[in-house]
Amino acid sequence: MPESKERPICRRKIEQMLAERRCKLEDLLELPRHKLSPGLRKQLRKMIVEAAPGGTNVRLGRRQRELIERLVALEGRDPSGIPTLRAVPARGGLKVWCRYCRSWHNHGPGAGHRVAHCADPLNPYYRSGYILVPYCEGQEGRT
Ligand SMILES: [Zn+2]
Repeated sequence: MPESKERPICRRKIEQMLAERRCKLEDLLELPRHKLSPGLRKQLRKMIVEAAPGGTNVRLGRRQRELIERLVALEGRDPSGIPTLRAVPARGGLKVWCRYCRSWHNHGPGAGHRVAHCADPLNPYYRSGYILVPYCEGQEGRT
């Protein structure tokens, strides 16, 4: 699983950036591409997922953490700038991993634009909502 590879130099660089900017891991993900190399971006995603068990109300096993890493890596934006999140089946509907509240948000069935179920109105997802894109195991790289 290449997404999970540890990059010690990137980790130190990210920790340095966090200290300099006094910001959170998620804030670094918003940096433009020329300020965050692909290696740094991959390590950052790994660190965001690693941080998850402490901040969430669900206990995550290794398989679930790996799934979340893949889902976070596939996050994108539609042409109007609304985040597109990969959603997996849950309870007859879909659920998405929220990297801001570090928990699953449950939604009804079907793809499309949804209001974010974030508890915190300062979360970027809360303002824009997001678009659910169904994710199937083994479909990485396809859209
Ligand atoms: Zn949320």
